[in-house]
Amino acid sequence: MTRIGILALQGDFLEHKQPLQRMGVEAVEVRQIKHLDGLDGLIIPGGESTTFAIIAQRLGMIEPLRQFARAHPTWGTCAGAIFLAKTVTGKASDQISLGVMDITVRRNAFGRQIDSFVALLTIDGIAGDPYQAVFIRAPIIESPRDTVDVLATLADGRIVAARQGHLLATSFHPELTDDDRVHALFLRMVAKANQ
Ligand code: GLN
Repeated sequence: MTRIGILALQGDFLEHKQPLQRMGVEAVEVRQIKHLDGLDGLIIPGGESTTFAIIAQRLGMIEPLRQFARAHPTWGTCAGAIFLAKTVTGKASDQISLGVMDITVRRNAFGRQIDSFVALLTIDGIAGDPYQAVFIRAPIIESPRDTVDVLATLADGRIVAARQGHLLATSFHPELTDDDRVHALFLRMVAKANQ
């Protein structure tokens, strides 16, 4: 059975469990280094990227998480996307990230919590109806390197989903809707990596 870890230090990690379980995948909460053992992939949820950094540093998890993400499929949603990025703008002065994905992520690019919104997206690799994406104090993805595929943009061209090899970043929260298509996309990346 495929085992997917969900970083469970802070944020909406529980919400990622349901879509994984609906798709017959084992979902493992990752709270300590040892929980990374034997995982086929990792999801870093939405939440607060500054808090992820502080807690992961305290637990000595930054380097193990970095090594995991370099080698295995890893998907960051919202704060998770910030945590994956090589460069973070609008960050807290001492905020660190895993720095594994060749993107710049601008935090809080749409304003405050009250500026949260839903947008219909066309996402590369996802068939069918437009995808209803939930943005909550969301970041945008900027300056992707040539090795990064842009998967979705807003109508104004701002990038909100990108993939680089086995790494996936989304500005929005697929775990907060009943539409499992982005989880399915990630699971296809996991299956491909395990071929
Ligand atoms: N604004 C948060 C951050 O900078 C992300 C918000 C979210 O994950 N919904 O980490």
